[in-house]
Formats: sequence, C-alpha cells, structure tokens
Amino acid sequence: MSQIVEVKVPDIGDFSDVPVIELFVKAGDAIKVDESICTLESDKATMDVPSSAEGVIREVLVKVGDRVGEGAVLLKVETEGAGATPAGAGEAKAIPAATAPASAPAATPAPTAAARPGAYAGSADLECDMLVLGAGPGGYSAAFRAADLGLKTVIVERYATLGGVCLNVGCIPSKALLHVAQVIDEAGHMAAAGITFAKPAVDLDALRAHKDKVVGKLTAGLAGMAKGRKVEVVRGLGTFLDANHVEVELTSGSGQDKTGEKKVVRFGQCIIAAGSAAVHLPFIPKDPRVVDSTGALELRTSGGKAPAKMLVIGGGIIGLEMATVYSTLGTRVDVVEMLDALMQGPDRDAVKVWEKQNAQRFDNIMLKTKTVAVEAKDDGLWVTFEGAEGGKSAPQGPQRYDMILQAAGRSPNGGKIGAENAGVVVTDRGFIPVDGQMRTNVPHIFAIGDIVGNPMLAHKAVHEGHVAAEVAAGQKAAFDATVIPSVAYTHPEVAWVGYTEEQAKKEGRKIETAKFPWAASGRAIANGADYGFTKLIFDAETHRVIGGAIVGPSAGDMIGEVCLAIEMGADAVDIGKTIHPHPTLGETIGLAAEVAHGSCTDIPPMRRK
Ligand code: FAD
Repeated sequence: MSQIVEVKVPDIGDFSDVPVIELFVKAGDAIKVDESICTLESDKATMDVPSSAEGVIREVLVKVGDRVGEGAVLLKVETEGAGATPAGAGEAKAIPAATAPASAPAATPAPTAAARPGAYAGSADLECDMLVLGAGPGGYSAAFRAADLGLKTVIVERYATLGGVCLNVGCIPSKALLHVAQVIDEAGHMAAAGITFAKPAVDLDALRAHKDKVVGKLTAGLAGMAKGRKVEVVRGLGTFLDANHVEVELTSGSGQDKTGEKKVVRFGQCIIAAGSAAVHLPFIPKDPRVVDSTGALELRTSGGKAPAKMLVIGGGIIGLEMATVYSTLGTRVDVVEMLDALMQGPDRDAVKVWEKQNAQRFDNIMLKTKTVAVEAKDDGLWVTFEGAEGGKSAPQGPQRYDMILQAAGRSPNGGKIGAENAGVVVTDRGFIPVDGQMRTNVPHIFAIGDIVGNPMLAHKAVHEGHVAAEVAAGQKAAFDATVIPSVAYTHPEVAWVGYTEEQAKKEGRKIETAKFPWAASGRAIANGADYGFTKLIFDAETHRVIGGAIVGPSAGDMIGEVCLAIEMGADAVDIGKTIHPHPTLGETIGLAAEVAHGSCTDIPPMRRK
C-alpha cells in the first residue's frame, strides 16, 4: 500500500538558516534514496541534500532562494510499502567550499550505480574522482582545473593527441594558414607603397608541414601539462555503461582504429566534453574532392597545386576563413548560402566592410540559394543550385568545381556517447541541457563546450570547463559571463560582442551607438586599414556599454577590451577617460567612447552634449 512520506533537511551541522541555491527535482519525478534533492549553501560549504525516501514526488515544498534548516520539509513522496530508509541514507553530503585547501579534494558523491536498474555490475580497471570525456579545449581545461583542485582525474580521448577540434583541426591550424595568407595579401598591398615583391611561390607540402608543426608544438605542450598534473589519459572511444562507469574501447594509430581491448573506468563525478562534428549533407557523394573543414585544412593538392575552382557550402565564419586561405593560395571561390546574408552574427555595417574588401576573392556569392545535387565525375564535381523565390538567381544548370568544402554547420556529439545509460538527457539535436553550474539532469555528471549549445567556440568551452571543475570540487562557481565574443579571423577580421544594433531593435531595447571610423585613425591609415571602424553600443538609460563591433586587422585581439568594459559595467566616460596608447588600432575603442560622450577631437566637430 502506498503512503506519503515527508523528506526533511537532515542534520547539517551548525547551520539553521541556509539558502537553497539549486533544486534538482520537481513534482511527478521518481526519486530514489540518496538521490540529490537540492543544494544548500552556507558561507562555509555547499551541501547536496539527498532523499531519504524512494517513490514518486507528490509535492516540492521549497524553491530556489528559500532558507531552510534542519527538519524543514523539502518533499512529500509517495512510497510503496514502508518507503524504507536505510541507515545512513539521506545524510547531507558536505562539499568543501572555495576556502578549502586544494590538497583536500571535494567529497565526490558516492557512486549510485548499484541503486539503479540496469547498472553496471562488473569490475573496473581504473577508479577516479573525476572522469572527463573528451580532451578538446573544454575537456582538457576542465581536467587540469579539477586536478589542480585535488581531484584524481582521468581523461578519455579517442585521438592520439589532446586538444580536440580546436587545437588539431580547428582554431589553431586555420589561424596558422590564415596568418600565411595575410602575409601574402599584405605583401601584395605593398605595391601601393612602392614596394613590389615577386609573386609568391607556394609549396603546399611545406605549408602543410608548417601548420602541423604549429599544432604539434601545442599538443605536445598539453601532453606535458597533463603529465605534470598526474592526469591519466586513457586513449579510446568512451561510452557510458551507467551513471558511474564509462567503457573505453582502446584506440591506436593516427585515427580511431580500435585495438580490440577495453577498459572500464569507475568515476565519482564526470564532465562530458565530447564536442561536435561537421554536418555532412546527405545528398553529397563521398569523394576525396568533397571535404569538411578538417579535409580543407589538410591542403590536399592536385598536381602540387591548390584546386583551381572551389565551392564553399555555407557562408559562416568557418567557410569564409577557409575561403580566405584558398583564395590567397590561388583558388577561385564560389560561396553558396541558404540564408539572405553571409556571416550572420554581427551588424550588417561590419559585414559590408568585409564584403567590399573581399569582393575580389569570389566569382559568385549565391545567397538564398540551396545546393540540391552534386554529381562526382572524372572531370570535376557538378553542382546544381536552386534559388529561393525572390532570391538572387542561382546559376542555371550544373556548375563544375574541383573541390567542395562543406561548411554548413556543426552538430553536437550528444547522441554518440551512450548518455542514456547514465540517465543523462540529450535533446533531439544532440545537445545536453545543463544548468548554470554546468550540471546535467544527473547531478554528478556535468557537460560543457560545443555539446551543451551555441555559440560553439573554444573560449566558451574553456570557461564552462573551469566552472564545472570548480563546482565538482566544491567551489562556489557558476557560468555568469554576460557576453561571449565572436571573431571571424578573415581579412579584415570582424569581431563583435554583446548586443548588436539589430538585436537591440528586435528586443525594443533603447540604445545609443557611437562609431569611430578608422579613416580618422593615424595608425589605421599608416597600416592601410582606413576602411575599418570601431563601434560601441550603449544602453540609452544607464549609458553602460552593452555591445561592440570592430572590423579591421587585429579586431579579434582588441575586442577583449569591450568584453571587459561590458562585464564591469563601464560607461563611455570610463572607457574614453582610460588613456589608450597612441598610435594604435586599440585606441579606436577609447575614441569611439569619446564619440559617445561628445568629446572626440579626432573627427569633425560634434553636436554639443
Ligand atoms: P571539441 O574540441 O570538439 O573536443 C571534443 C573531444 O572529444 C574531441 O577530441 C573528440 O575526439 C573527443 N570525443 C568525442 N567523443 C568521444 C568519445 N566517445 N570518446 C572519447 N573521446 C571522444 N572556436 C574559437 O573559439 N575560435 C576559433 O578561431 C575557432 N576556429 C575554428 C575553426 C574550425 C575549422 C573549426 C572546425 C572550429 C573552430 N572553432 C573555433 C570552434 C572550436 O574548435 C570548438 O568550439 C571547440 O573545439 C569546442 O571544444 P569542446 O571541448 O567542446 O569540443
């Protein structure tokens, strides 16, 4: 016979009035003994309060922000029979707060596997406090932080090197090639200053070796840092067996070749950092001339040369960065984009500058156009397009290309790691939902990086990784960044952060904008970059900066100042009265702020404020 049992706050030491900072359950949920109900936070510790009863939650009597003490009723649970409470069950597990010394690792939740149906009952080859699945920028940063905070940490990674997409086949190799392209482009522009260089001779094999060396330096550094922290790396493909075990199919070689051996790792807590993969359009045939960004970065040659004609499918940042590299290497490039504009994130005024500077790179930019068929023939890849109604006309009949880059987006790997065996929720699209502390629906399993959502950027992954590791180690941490900057490392670079004018307009938020044209910057003129600009966006009421965009060389290096200004709640006076070095491109941020408060003397007279 069922009965209603009250679940109360157990003895939590000397604390009588502590706030609930997180709630993991809701009415209707099934709950087991020892499953976490909520987290309480005193000034000394955070404590997970586990359930002392098993059954279905009929009522939750607290909410986040409520203050509770020993004996406060948290839940009413409908139990079968006596709702047996084993001795010791339901005791609050204190996690040392931030002030705890790093040498005293946090108490990790006791493995609950045995309590769950379908739990793995076998033995483990390895045990750890923290297992990090995936060694991309999110994963290795989380693992290193967890180890630094005293947790015995294991990384499971299928590839030979740490660093994930970013270091191996993303941010870093693309920037190594973009830098080379920039030097070539700049050398060409020097003709206007009376300096003429010979046409560059490009040795693609040597260029590939240079890029690989850059990557190798960084990945070797990561391996050393893992060793230095005693973080054990298990090489193989990890799959959850249950909420406390991951099975690793060991891999070897330069790819993911399985050796046939397996290892089981038992963990107290886990951070899922399994990242994302390039989207492959189903109707495009498998052919060595069709590549994703990884293939494009391999710089495959035909007769020792870059392909003569390339189609980039997708006009986002990754596609445009690779288009920049290939066009500088001599490839003629077409871009096809289903939406009505390239580079969707920033305001159109920034993209317009980019478009003007890059018009010579492209034979054809097809907007509002779909790629509907691709045929691989001996003489090339023949592609058929379909223009949307009212869109720019698509080319009639199939067009021939030597190479196609699929850059139509990335999809999260959430559906490929056996998350369901651990009870971790994964959305239909493969994302893993998390709360502000990067916890999944299973409280001792966290997720970070590309797998938890957009924007899919390395700096977001790293930040989230630190938060997850700190929370797991008992620190008071949460992801509370106001903004995440984005940068297209094209030529010129386009960097933006926070509100765009377009977004503010959509939301009906009142803003003021101030733009400093680089035509008025001595350094930009000297550098041949007088086409650029720096724009700041302010809240019209508070006058605090809430967004910004920079277009021009090194925009990505400079946008950090705008991020800091937003995070610190700076207004135009704060930024404008900060003395920036002259002559620099960076001073255009200070000058844009001066434009905002009407004190800029580097542009024609302004209306008095
Ligand atoms: P990932 O880097 O994807 O790492 C996930 C890791 O998990 C991988 O190493 C993978 O092998 C491993 N893994 C997955 N499943 C398993 C499993 N079952 N078992 C074992 N291991 C597993 N971002 C920027 O911020 N700046 C840039 O300039 C930039 N440029 C980019 C350029 C390109 C061409 C690309 C493709 C991406 C770029 N990005 C850039 C995006 C950036 O690379 C990602 O946002 C970042 O790598 C995400 O980090 P992550 O830790 O979430 O996952």
